Amino acid sequence: MTTIALLGGEPVRRTPFPAYNVIGEDEIKAVRAVMETGVLSKYIGAEHEDFMGGPQVRAFEAEWAAAFDVDHAIAVNSATSGLFAAIGATGVGPGDEVIVPPLSMAASATAPVVYGAVPVFCDVDANTFNPDPVSIAEKITERTKAIIVVHLLGHPTDMNPVKALADRCNLVVIEDCAQAIYASYYGCNVGTLADIGVFSLNYHKHIHTGEGGVCVTNDKDLAERLRLIRNHAEAVAAGRPGLDLTNLIGFNFRMGEIEAAIGRSLLPKARDLIEKRRANIRILEQMVGDLPGLSFTRTAEGCVSSYYAHGLLCDQETLGVSRDLLVEALRAELPITLMREEAGGALIGPGYSRPLYMLPMYQEMIAIGRSGFPFRGPQYAGKADYRPNLFPRAEQAARTMITHEMMRPPMTESDLRDVADAFHKVYENLDALRDWRTRRLHK
Ligand SMILES: *Cc1c(COP(=O)(O)O)cnc(C)c1O
Repeated sequence: MTTIALLGGEPVRRTPFPAYNVIGEDEIKAVRAVMETGVLSKYIGAEHEDFMGGPQVRAFEAEWAAAFDVDHAIAVNSATSGLFAAIGATGVGPGDEVIVPPLSMAASATAPVVYGAVPVFCDVDANTFNPDPVSIAEKITERTKAIIVVHLLGHPTDMNPVKALADRCNLVVIEDCAQAIYASYYGCNVGTLADIGVFSLNYHKHIHTGEGGVCVTNDKDLAERLRLIRNHAEAVAAGRPGLDLTNLIGFNFRMGEIEAAIGRSLLPKARDLIEKRRANIRILEQMVGDLPGLSFTRTAEGCVSSYYAHGLLCDQETLGVSRDLLVEALRAELPITLMREEAGGALIGPGYSRPLYMLPMYQEMIAIGRSGFPFRGPQYAGKADYRPNLFPRAEQAARTMITHEMMRPPMTESDLRDVADAFHKVYENLDALRDWRTRRLHK
């Protein structure tokens, strides 16, 4: 039996994995063409077609809307801005509650806070880590105004029960699709299933424009409010008769022409990039599917995942080693770095190992100013509750989840073989790993 790298043996592989880099000649050309016009952003704050941005932004929005089969696409400078704008567009404010998932990137939950509303966490589905509709239902009160769902790791949230709840209780639903471009739910693109969908184009996502995001909606009024929030709402007040400009704070969430041009170049390539991830996942799951104590996120009925990351759960009882030690051992076998486009860049890690409610902002209930707003005070009649023991499945997932992105193209079958070999090698050495951990503990 060969010694594992963590215990001083030779790693399975030292040669860097091929880098995932979506930026190529096409994108360089697209950027050059914009540079040559000298117009890098064209929004103006007046009643004029340029209120909607320059030609690249408007073309990008039209192409995005067509690709996702949705009426309106509004390009913004990040998904975080998009989530803030979505909450602003729906008119949520102080005294309101918004149900949010605990396993996500922080912005999914902070968007309501920015508008003075209180995020109420729900528990997650044990398989997909997405917000669980049964738990969402339990969290609805007379103060609930909206639900933010996240399609985590690219797997769709079970939207039918969420929408049924929203219809029954008259709630807005916002889909955080930052990780789920072209994921689908019973044949429909996620993002178009509820009131507003928000996509991310940051560097780490399937396709990226450096920074960027897109909001989509089929609701004309919400689209108008999103555009106003994106571009200093107040500046067009004079030119738009019949438009209510109260309850609208204008920001600068504008996407520029260069980002839009990169987005236009990459959007038609996204499906193929995602198909390659799916194919690689199938190969890898075949190779490591029989390991005891390790399970994969099973794709739920009606769902197609975009595999932003591959989710694994480890049963630490069966393994006899902790999730973190298993990750440490796997990392030692493979050329892993944190930066994806650097040589060797490939990620494996503990996923969402800290539920969002553990952030100091929630634990201390200090977010805006120091008086406890919006969690405490005269505006809010509810009682914010961020005790960790309320969410057993989120806590369990945070303790046992592993995520990796080693299925990204251009990873080949032989690259994936090395990944699988690393898993098998560590598995064959679990006893040695356990002894080593015990010795380390007693040092
Ligand atoms: C990346 C991400 C965001 C934020 O995206 P930005 O474009 O970086 O603001 C929000 N939610 C989720 C789930 C994400 O993965």
